Amino acid sequence: MKAIWYDAPRSFALTDRPDPHPAAGEVRLRVRSAGVCGTDVHLHHGEFSPRYPFTPGHEIVGEVDLVGEGVQDLRVGQLVALNNRVSCGTCTNCRRAMPMYCTRLRDLGVTEPGGFAEFVAAPAGQCHPVDDLALEVAAFAEPVACAVHALDVLAPAPGSDVLLFGAGTTGLVLTQLLARSGAWRLTVAAPTRAKLDLARALGASETVLVDRADPAATSARLRDGAPDGYDVVVDATGAPAVQEQCVPLTRDGGTVLFFGMAPEAARVPLSTNEVFRRELTLKGSYTQAFSFDRAVAALRGGTVRTEGMVTHRFDLGSYGRALDTVASDRSCIKALIHP
Ligand SMILES: [Zn+2]
Ligand SMILES: [Zn+2]
Repeated sequence: MKAIWYDAPRSFALTDRPDPHPAAGEVRLRVRSAGVCGTDVHLHHGEFSPRYPFTPGHEIVGEVDLVGEGVQDLRVGQLVALNNRVSCGTCTNCRRAMPMYCTRLRDLGVTEPGGFAEFVAAPAGQCHPVDDLALEVAAFAEPVACAVHALDVLAPAPGSDVLLFGAGTTGLVLTQLLARSGAWRLTVAAPTRAKLDLARALGASETVLVDRADPAATSARLRDGAPDGYDVVVDATGAPAVQEQCVPLTRDGGTVLFFGMAPEAARVPLSTNEVFRRELTLKGSYTQAFSFDRAVAALRGGTVRTEGMVTHRFDLGSYGRALDTVASDRSCIKALIHP
């Protein structure tokens, strides 16, 4: 099969690899769609702990192509969204119902071959049937699962005044979930007008155009909208210059959620005295856990809508261009690879 294959950071090629064969309890999927996201850009640079050599691609939808021994719930031809994170179930963290920190995690697309390939083998129990969804709706299952987990972590109180930085895929998905999960006013701040218009259509009460060249002016405008600060501030950008603004814009007793992935070496100034004195809560959310079923249900029932969000489509041979697009094309919301 054809697959993207990395042997070191920034060193990849489209190569011929042996077709994977499903072990007992596994299925082989013919990859129909694999989303490219900011995590893949970090992986490209060697961040997020990839294990070389490897094939990235963790937002996978595929058609069951071969069924391994003992698999009873799936049949050949079925379309499934894959939960790519296979936790061991027996390490200390798994036994404490925290599989996101599994110490023996199999992370398809990070530590094991992922979906930027024609085929991938995966445990049948990680596959969620999505035959009834359009392919480009099902493609959002993994990113929506991460956003649902973020809501689990944040647990916003009803009546919250929420500020959300970012209107990319995760920002727009979070917009919809926050609007239904306690945010009585939701302000979305981002640097692209078209994305803010989409955020407004999807449930944001206010939008603020961010001036990247002048963060102080942006902060002042956001402060105007909430002189005492926001109950909850969510960063869905991963940009240190944005993350720096989160604590000062939070109301006394409020909560900051870091959802975007900053570069590993990035550091932002933080007044621990302010966190102490104003009794702020800082939270992080980086993955999904026990949220995949709810993500598929949200897509199925229309709680999360995705119209207009797939802006770019590529084949495997254009993987490099897909990465560049996700890294630097501001018009990009979701880029998909259709192998
Ligand atoms: Zn992703
Ligand atoms: Zn474990």
